[in-house]
Amino acid sequence: MKTHAAVQRLDLTNPELLINGWSLESLTLRAGRTPFFAYDRSHIQERVGQLREQLPPRIGLHYAIKANPMPAVVQLMSELVDGLDVASVGELRVALDTGIAPSRVSFAGPAKGDHELAAAIGSGVLINVESPAELERIQVIACERGMTARIALRVNPDFELKSSGMKMGGGAKPFGIDAERIPALLDTLRESSFVSLCGLHIFCGSQNLRADSLAQAHAQTFDLARRLTEHWGQPFESINIGGGLGIPYFPGEPALDGAVIGEQLAALLGEHQNWLADTELVMELGRYLVGEAGYYVCRIIERKESRGQTFLMCDGGLHHHLANSGNFGQVLRKNYPVVIGNRLNQPASETVTAQGPLCTPLDVIADRMELPRAEPGDWLVVLQSGAYGASASPAAFLGHPPAVELLV
Ligand SMILES: *Cc1c(COP(=O)(O)O)cnc(C)c1O
Repeated sequence: MKTHAAVQRLDLTNPELLINGWSLESLTLRAGRTPFFAYDRSHIQERVGQLREQLPPRIGLHYAIKANPMPAVVQLMSELVDGLDVASVGELRVALDTGIAPSRVSFAGPAKGDHELAAAIGSGVLINVESPAELERIQVIACERGMTARIALRVNPDFELKSSGMKMGGGAKPFGIDAERIPALLDTLRESSFVSLCGLHIFCGSQNLRADSLAQAHAQTFDLARRLTEHWGQPFESINIGGGLGIPYFPGEPALDGAVIGEQLAALLGEHQNWLADTELVMELGRYLVGEAGYYVCRIIERKESRGQTFLMCDGGLHHHLANSGNFGQVLRKNYPVVIGNRLNQPASETVTAQGPLCTPLDVIADRMELPRAEPGDWLVVLQSGAYGASASPAAFLGHPPAVELLV
């Protein structure tokens, strides 16, 4: 049986899962109840530190808040990275509440309303412009208020990030401005007095585990940025080259090696240094920085047998962790890494299905998985749960309390 990469990195000699030194018992007391998400601060610090060592020093690192917008996590990130990327006014508030300089915050996202654009302009953050019409609205709002909007053009590239979990660039997309339309738009910006064009934003996709695909997309990103810089006629202040680095969720998926990504980027920087020397480069990441640091901890309420199958009935489920459930049954569901948190050192001895408390067969936490024999009161823990968990789940569905979140 293929094991999860995330399980292999646990200490399996001790029965108890410790999260940054805390036992599940003590975390349950601190949370006041199960289920809860616990995010390991030291893991986040190590991940960011390691990636910074692996990436060329010229490449700045931004955190995309939507991966995990818990204010304490964002506060921690604001101290570890060079900038925060937000995609709504709610996220903008969380970002600015950390005390970060507005110049280090950027605001991307399609279908921004005028009040959102006004909030971004008024706060002095960088706006990643998603369409020519949005650019016009920004100019009108900035003009009305006598302010200058700092903008970057988000480019929908003329290539794709291959083998991505989620493609957000290439072909017809609701995100960004088609690359072939950018030169004409740049020309209109030469005389604009209400916007200050700072750079480009080129984001292709998300959840990619293939260093070769990322390298190819990076090479194409640099080529596209060079062509657009040549058209603009002077170096941009900053270029955001996107991110897309993924983490392994399913059995047999390999972890991505940040060192390989770093080497590939260093080579590209060498090739492109003649036109890039005065431009700040930024990579924006969410999941890769926080995803592996998070644990969703729930408790087994009872064991239940039905016609030869064993169910572990748990107090946590898809209302807190939609992605783990398989997104309402829309995709072929695979199991996230799951452990019995107080029996780490026991061998798998039975095949069970872990089911949540919602009145739907889709509320599956683990489907026919081999686990050590677990009893009521044991903790069932879903690993790789630090990104797109609590905030990306239908918390109101069926009226259970929302998940508690702890940064420990
Ligand atoms: C969602 C998003 C990210 C973060 O993606 P991850 O896969 O979590 O790294 C970064 N940039 C933009 C523009 C996004 O929309």
